[in-house]
Amino acid sequence: MTTSAEIRSLYVHVPFCHTLCGYCDFYSQVIDRRSVAPLVDALLLELQQLAAEHEIAIETLFVGGGTPTTLPPEELSRLLRALESLPRGEDTLEFTVEANPATVNSEIAGVLARHAVNRVSIGAQSFDPSELRVLERIHAPKQVVDTVAACRAAGIERINVDLIFGVPGQSLAAWESNLERVLELRTEHLSCYGLTYERGTPLFRQLQQGLVRRVDAEVEAEMYETTIDRLGAAGFGHYEISNFARPGRECRHNLRYWHNQTYAGIGPAAAGFVRGLRYKNVPDTAEYVRAIQAGRSPRIEHERLTLDRTARETAMLELRLIEGIDRRCFAERFGHDPMDLFRDAVAKHVELELLAVDEHALRLTRAGLLLADSVIADFL
Ligand code: SF4
Repeated sequence: MTTSAEIRSLYVHVPFCHTLCGYCDFYSQVIDRRSVAPLVDALLLELQQLAAEHEIAIETLFVGGGTPTTLPPEELSRLLRALESLPRGEDTLEFTVEANPATVNSEIAGVLARHAVNRVSIGAQSFDPSELRVLERIHAPKQVVDTVAACRAAGIERINVDLIFGVPGQSLAAWESNLERVLELRTEHLSCYGLTYERGTPLFRQLQQGLVRRVDAEVEAEMYETTIDRLGAAGFGHYEISNFARPGRECRHNLRYWHNQTYAGIGPAAAGFVRGLRYKNVPDTAEYVRAIQAGRSPRIEHERLTLDRTARETAMLELRLIEGIDRRCFAERFGHDPMDLFRDAVAKHVELELLAVDEHALRLTRAGLLLADSVIADFL
């Protein structure tokens, strides 16, 4: 069956990690060498299937996980070669691979650069050994510095570093010190997330058992505001709740996601949104591989979104952006000004000074950024 859907953005999920971090709720498993080649075979088959069913004109690729850089160099190379060979779109390719500091040496960085990867996103999370222990991360702070150096030496142009604030036991001063350390790396992009305690994770259980204590909400809010101010002073534009970039270095792949545009996803647990159909693959590597080998679809969830539902989801996603919802673009896409579609939610949050409205856009205020989840929830 051939449809004319055109895919410009593709996410690829590699579910392996060396060890599992206590706070993580992404679908991942400890790497088992025997599972690697069958997974890469299956990813390549799913990619072929996608190419047979859709017109592909790729502009952004994002290989995430898990930790894609746990793959042995030859298997990583096999996967990246297939991805770099996809038909290209008009925009220059943004090709991101997520990496963990303990998994990148000059050989792996070289493999990435040889296969057109031009953006690496490094999960540093902290530069403080005691915070890394709480998060059950296996790397040492120095390895973040070495990973950035290895990527730069290989010629990778754009680097993101992820950090987490609100780690149990972390003070405001300790967070500020993390910010200073990361700024020394002179990366193009930074993602700073508040720690969340996801149900089902070991960290969530530790919280319930009283083994760890949440950072006080006021201190966490101060950490976030300090982040905005310090990174702004260092020349980073704040463009999404948790994301900061030097001018022109925003992550285009994630921007497509936040504008609720079409993207495909392959791999276990990967999600996609193609021609109004939101889907998700089975979050089980062995089952995913079996389904692909047997010629069955690995998808376990499909939902065709109505225009109204798509409009609501788009509003929720675009509110995450600092520029907010562009009223004219939204009205052209959905036939309604967001002020009309979300009249009650807008009135409530404007009154509380959590939302600001002008003739062009609807956006979270600085106070609204601190309460983003509760404001955004009112738009669904
Ligand atoms: S390395 Fe990343 S994906 Fe793997 S368990 Fe830790 S946080 Fe999750």
